[in-house]
Amino acid sequence: PLPSAVALLLLVGLAGRARPAPPAGDVERRVDELLARMTAEEKVGQLQQLDSVPNAWTIRDEHRELAARGLVGSFLNIRGAKAINEAQRLALEKSRLKIPILFGFDVIHGYRVIFPIPLAEAGTWDPAAVERAAAIAAAEAASTGLKWTFAPMVDIARDPRWGRIMEGSGEDPYLGSVMAAARVRGFQGDDPAAPDRVLACAKHWVAYGAAEGGRDYNTAELSEHTLRTVYLPPFRAALDAGAQTFMCSFNTVNGVPASANPFLLTKVLRDEWRFDGLLVSDYESVKETIAHRTAADGADAARQALNAGVDMEMVSRLFAAHLPKLLEQGKVPPAKLDEAVRRVLRVKLRAGIFEHPYVDESREAKVVGAREHRAAAREIAARSMVLLKNDGNVLPIKPGTRTIAVLGPLADDADAPLSHWRGDGRVEDTVTLLAGIRSKVQGRAGVQVTHAKGCDIEGDSIDGFPEAVRLARQADLAIVAVGEASAMSGEAGSRSSLDLPGHQLNLVKTIQATGTPTVVVLYNGRPLTLGWVADHVPALLEAWLPGTEGGNAVADVLFGDVNPGAKLPVTFPRVVGQVPIYYNALSTGRPAQADNRYTSKYIDLPPTPQFPFGHGLGYTRFELSRLTLGAKSILPDEKLAVTVDVKNVGDRAGDEVVQLYLRDEVSGVARPVKELAGFRRVSLAPGATQTVRFELGPDRLGLYDAHLRFVVEPGKFQVTAGTSSVGGLTEQFEVAAPRPE
Ligand code: BGC
Repeated sequence: PLPSAVALLLLVGLAGRARPAPPAGDVERRVDELLARMTAEEKVGQLQQLDSVPNAWTIRDEHRELAARGLVGSFLNIRGAKAINEAQRLALEKSRLKIPILFGFDVIHGYRVIFPIPLAEAGTWDPAAVERAAAIAAAEAASTGLKWTFAPMVDIARDPRWGRIMEGSGEDPYLGSVMAAARVRGFQGDDPAAPDRVLACAKHWVAYGAAEGGRDYNTAELSEHTLRTVYLPPFRAALDAGAQTFMCSFNTVNGVPASANPFLLTKVLRDEWRFDGLLVSDYESVKETIAHRTAADGADAARQALNAGVDMEMVSRLFAAHLPKLLEQGKVPPAKLDEAVRRVLRVKLRAGIFEHPYVDESREAKVVGAREHRAAAREIAARSMVLLKNDGNVLPIKPGTRTIAVLGPLADDADAPLSHWRGDGRVEDTVTLLAGIRSKVQGRAGVQVTHAKGCDIEGDSIDGFPEAVRLARQADLAIVAVGEASAMSGEAGSRSSLDLPGHQLNLVKTIQATGTPTVVVLYNGRPLTLGWVADHVPALLEAWLPGTEGGNAVADVLFGDVNPGAKLPVTFPRVVGQVPIYYNALSTGRPAQADNRYTSKYIDLPPTPQFPFGHGLGYTRFELSRLTLGAKSILPDEKLAVTVDVKNVGDRAGDEVVQLYLRDEVSGVARPVKELAGFRRVSLAPGATQTVRFELGPDRLGLYDAHLRFVVEPGKFQVTAGTSSVGGLTEQFEVAAPRPE
């Protein structure tokens, strides 16, 4: 719509939705009492978070005394109920004020039972499933005494070279917001103090995913408009869902390290959003402001970070080393210190650890790895798999198929499916693809499964090719599992190429050349450039890094016991040179046209991606019809009802994700060509129809104007209902200017 003087400034949506209920007066009173009794050293101690013995997950000897003196606010990476209780005992039995320690851990997509990576879970487009996965992870972690997870990671990522794209929900702010809220609800429930819940942590605040070139830890340069429109919404959703903690990021944002950034940590988060929980730094990120060369030394780094709004310092211990002196020198106001301590104590009280500092050690073994957790992981993994291509209905596997060759370096790899972040996940628990297929055909007379690796994920050797080719020739069907090792994505897992590493593409080509029908199953933590594979292999299944039960889940999908219904939460480019490529790009003055050189595109590539955002097939077909709007015109503060019918026109039950996109026809600042504004995953029997209802309100219609005010501008909009970000049914409506008073 046209920018206009009557544009309504709405105090809704991103601009300030209602905060969770204020903390009970009781909590604040207890914080006051403690604060009044604490020495400066004890206060600073509460701001200190310390790491464990590397890879041993136990308390370090030199930290015992600190804990016993009440000088440790939190430990991370201590694992197991016994070790956690033992560390807690130091604080409770020896320290003067007996303030319990808060134990944190990266429970990212499971604790012992590992669920699919968060990117894959976002591809379920099913917030209830994602909430359930987080709740199970929380229950397992909490049974070991952990009370805080460093999740959800809610960073928007538009560059698949960035390895941490696997840890978030992809490229879309709305999908990312829905998933952020679902994960917070799953981890924390209504009350983080409940024995099967943990505190959630929205991270990394902020714009970490905007690292230039997709190189981890790199600089982020972006306008405040883009920051507020694209990167902040999932954090806001996490906060609105009740997230009690935030973690700041490693990167600079427009030149200022996030860990020493008063604009981000105080102005936006505390002043505008009224966040009253605890903000922890990232791992040594306070110290790293020295390497950013915006802090002169440790004292300067500590001063800047505390003054900017960091409450708790992860690992680098500069607060403990320097704050007492900085206070004496008047370089840090005492009120600032008290405020940080208050936030730490408040969150500890809300987490219930004063009442229940210890965990019942007999529960851990019953809860972690429970059979029903594995069943849920299998179900959610199958729900997250995206059928990218299925020419000639190669899948599901035909009942008469006798010999199946399961090939490729990922076919029997038990490590990759767990990913870079794996909690206490164990390789010996992992169901590989080979194991999943074997157990699926067990007892089926005459069905034979053969296996060869062919090659490694990386490396020069193709010595294994002949054996793989021999097995493919003897088989009725070849299933080739290729992709990435666990260390190729996740933190510090950025890649300059998005191709299949090593000789895997050659392996696929060689197997396909045998003429045996071939299915490629992809195990990877990011979009890959699939060029030849996408063009020539008839069936392609994106399994992501599917976790402990991955192999069973892939087998469920391949054999048709589960009809795949997931959709890409991120665009798959054709080649890395297209990056960044995302569906919700801003309109340009020269939209790409195949037959016009002077448009926004590359001369050596089609302007489209390999697979668009929202894409995903299944074993049945759906049709949309009767897109209907509740009104042709609404006022800026009103909501528009939108309905659309979805019908399963195939012959199998299945799922479809109905996606609603919005396009603002004319706006004061450029808006995306289309933006996701609603979605619903539905399950329908063959022949069945469902009417799906959406509501479009000011939070979706509004935009940040040139003055960064969130407004709904009067004017025309287009709404599209589709089954991916390409195509669909469209209708128009308008937002009318409010009548003058
Ligand atoms: C990561 C965080 C993580 C922390 C603790 C850092 O390196 O960036 O996401 O929570 O380590 O393990």
